[in-house]
Amino acid sequence: MKKFIGIPASPGIVIGNAFLYLENENGEIPRYGIKKNQVDSEWKRLLSAFEEAADEIRGLQEKAEIEISREQAAIFAAHLLMLEDEELLGEIQERLKTECQNIEWVFWHITHDLSQKLMAAADPYLRERAVDIADISRRVLNILLKIKKFSLADLNRDAVLVVHDLLPSDTLTMNKERVKGLVMDVGGRTSHTAILARAFEIPAVLGLSNITREIQNGEKIVMDGASGVVIIEPDRAALKQYENALGRYKKMVAGFSLMRDLPPETRDGYRVRLMANIEIPDEAGTVLNYGAEGIGLYRSEFLFISPGKTAEEEEQYRAYSGVLKAMGNLPVTIRTVDVGGDKIIPELQNTDEKNPLLGWRAVRFSLAHPEIFKTQLRAILRSSVEGNVRVMFPMISGIEELELALGLWEEAKAECRTRGQAFAGDIPVGTMIEIPSAAVSADILAEKSDFFSIGTNDLIQYTLAVDRSNEKVTYLAQPSHPAVLRLLKTTIDAAHQRGIPAAMCGEMAGDADMSPLLLGLGLDIFSMNASAIPAVKRVIRGASMESCRALAEEALKRRYTQEVNALLEEWREREEEKAE
Ligand code: PEP
Ligand code: MG
Repeated sequence: MKKFIGIPASPGIVIGNAFLYLENENGEIPRYGIKKNQVDSEWKRLLSAFEEAADEIRGLQEKAEIEISREQAAIFAAHLLMLEDEELLGEIQERLKTECQNIEWVFWHITHDLSQKLMAAADPYLRERAVDIADISRRVLNILLKIKKFSLADLNRDAVLVVHDLLPSDTLTMNKERVKGLVMDVGGRTSHTAILARAFEIPAVLGLSNITREIQNGEKIVMDGASGVVIIEPDRAALKQYENALGRYKKMVAGFSLMRDLPPETRDGYRVRLMANIEIPDEAGTVLNYGAEGIGLYRSEFLFISPGKTAEEEEQYRAYSGVLKAMGNLPVTIRTVDVGGDKIIPELQNTDEKNPLLGWRAVRFSLAHPEIFKTQLRAILRSSVEGNVRVMFPMISGIEELELALGLWEEAKAECRTRGQAFAGDIPVGTMIEIPSAAVSADILAEKSDFFSIGTNDLIQYTLAVDRSNEKVTYLAQPSHPAVLRLLKTTIDAAHQRGIPAAMCGEMAGDADMSPLLLGLGLDIFSMNASAIPAVKRVIRGASMESCRALAEEALKRRYTQEVNALLEEWREREEEKAE
């Protein structure tokens, strides 16, 4: 038995057999010299392979538009653009002429170098572009070499797919009925593959380094997409443990649909709101199936990050309007772009920061680019007539930034008025509390905010000085740390003193173990990955506000994180006993 922990990317437990899908990407590319008078025919061969590849990609693009979304179809639009890239074509033609090597070799060499360069970049956006280049390169080479590779669309048995990396086209075309889980060497939570896995509801664990070298085809594999655990050839005890967990999970999921329309209300009648976080507009349609009462966080930066996207005002307007329409009259909270940190957009940003997490991120970037910022604000304002929109600013560190952002919001309104563009009156404007200084001065920020939304992912990162994506220190990122609890209390109390709601949209809001504590602290709105809603709702419906308040009061007196966790555990056991 071998156990690994990777990045939990899409929830669900799977016990199955591995299907190892290894590419022969860099395998045998023939290399031979050609004569000067063959250059033209080699070049023509490439152009015709490009045409064939473009046809294939257009087919995939149509499929993506029908089956998934325009956003995902844009991946293929970007692939098509690469095939038309004058610079790339020029370089290939030049090297073909000067080196007089066969076209497969010249083409492979250039695209391989380019993708290696991008792969070495610190910026995850660039690393993901390397995947797109590799995808295109392989497609064209397969055509040139007349290779018909095994297609994941033909997978004819249930399996856990184990791959080094999955190209966007593979993710789209694979037989999704048969792929029960996905395990990958590379990839992070925001990679295209992770986003697609969540959209298809396929459990996934990514970023496992070299799991493809640890496993043999057909071996038994256990994976938990919520915790990131992957076990190869589990022993009897581990198998039993995960069979039980799977049984509980299935029961829980079956119970979820029954709970969809029940209110998130404690036994003693205290009502909160449960909302969903989304990254791409098309997720809006599915969150309602989980009983989301609105969108508490729409991470709008993904519109800018997707390849082939320019995020012009019209395009943003269409995306926001689409989400608002899909949600009917339920609230949709659009967070203005949070680029920077680990979400660099090279066209917009200098990628050379020594310390990007403390750098030119989120609202800091928006305030430095009022035109980009106001374009987004106008698109939000214009979409407001389609539903119930709210807007919030990420990474506010103090009142000065909030006032500057509000000033630009007013300017954007004035611009819409001048252009005769209608927008709703009274759109709530909120502040994200995700920097310790914002939490400590929450009473000041509350004066100018219509609501707060606590981003615990960053709040914990900055409070405990723990890089949220560095696996060596994640053990320190404890939501139940006394310092974090105090900041939560300060923030929630400041909101209530001013009569505004306190929401939370960081991962802590979707952690059902933390729900009683957050209830007790007085949190009004919990926003999370939609699939976490039923479990959180179950805890809320089983709890009494009285016992949650007592729990929070006790927790705030504790000095050690472990003591807080023990309190939570005791609470859970007590409540379960009561329920029996
Ligand atoms: C957070 O920081 O908790 C948050 C919700 O924002 P993001 O994860 O997008 O930084
Ligand atoms: Mg954040």
